[in-house]
Amino acid sequence: MHVKIPRVPLVATLTAVVAAAALLVLPSPLRVPADAAIVRITATDRAPAAPETTTPTAPARTVAPAAPEATAPAAPAATVPGATPVGTRPPVVDHGPRTGNKVALTFDADMTDAMRYQLRSGAVRSYANLKIIDLLERERVPATFFLTGKWVEQYPDVTRRLAANPRFELANHTYGHLAFTPDCYGLPRIAEREMTADVARTFDVVAAYGGRQTRYFRFPGLCHDRKALAALAPLGVTVVDGDVVSGDPFAKSWRPVVRASLDGVRPGSVIVLHVTEANAPMTDEALPHILAGLAERGLVPAPLSEVLGVG
Ligand SMILES: [Zn+2]
Repeated sequence: MHVKIPRVPLVATLTAVVAAAALLVLPSPLRVPADAAIVRITATDRAPAAPETTTPTAPARTVAPAAPEATAPAAPAATVPGATPVGTRPPVVDHGPRTGNKVALTFDADMTDAMRYQLRSGAVRSYANLKIIDLLERERVPATFFLTGKWVEQYPDVTRRLAANPRFELANHTYGHLAFTPDCYGLPRIAEREMTADVARTFDVVAAYGGRQTRYFRFPGLCHDRKALAALAPLGVTVVDGDVVSGDPFAKSWRPVVRASLDGVRPGSVIVLHVTEANAPMTDEALPHILAGLAERGLVPAPLSEVLGVG
């Protein structure tokens, strides 16, 4: 009697997991030195993306939720923006090609247990800045949202609103915004063995909302090292840092946020902002000035996949 062969994607995923695990236990000559610089590539180094489409409506859910008991994440469809070969260390991207006139506005939606406590205790009213979303919708500005799983669970209605907008792309910012490196702005640290499952779980949480799903991923605090990147190998993602850091967390005035967002912004730039309101209280006031400054420079906001794709 033959053993029934499991579905191929699961086999491929499991193979990738085993391969990734094998890399971690290889003898030292084959391993990347612990102090090796993190490999950064730009989109120009990568294979050209598929020609830009003008599909106005959001693609259907393209990332299949994994079975609850599965230990291996579902493999992403190759057509999802940001998808990379499963089993290989993900590329880390700062920006797109420096040609053309597109830039990406990216908004991180952090949510830690400490933040949830602040909400429940009434100390904080909101970590979802609806004024930002109102403005982007009113002005028809494309943007990309890096969502934590816990933020999505806290704000399902806002997430539905984001997913329903054909100009917005959804990306992954971990489940609970834990640090993936030993020293990352004082954030509590995730165990190395839990990293892969944490990020896979977040893709599943976000996938349930449909809309413009991607395989883009951003580490909390942009903190990553060799081990963190290796943990993502089974997931087929692109790690996105950003070349323009607005510094909007805990800003006291909108002016420095605007200055930081516009200084050094160039074609292909990826601007890092936050939609967390109480923890980034000036971002909605800064945004109109940022949009005006981009327009003055001839730069046009576009979804991340378009900014990282061919010019
Ligand atoms: Zn964050």
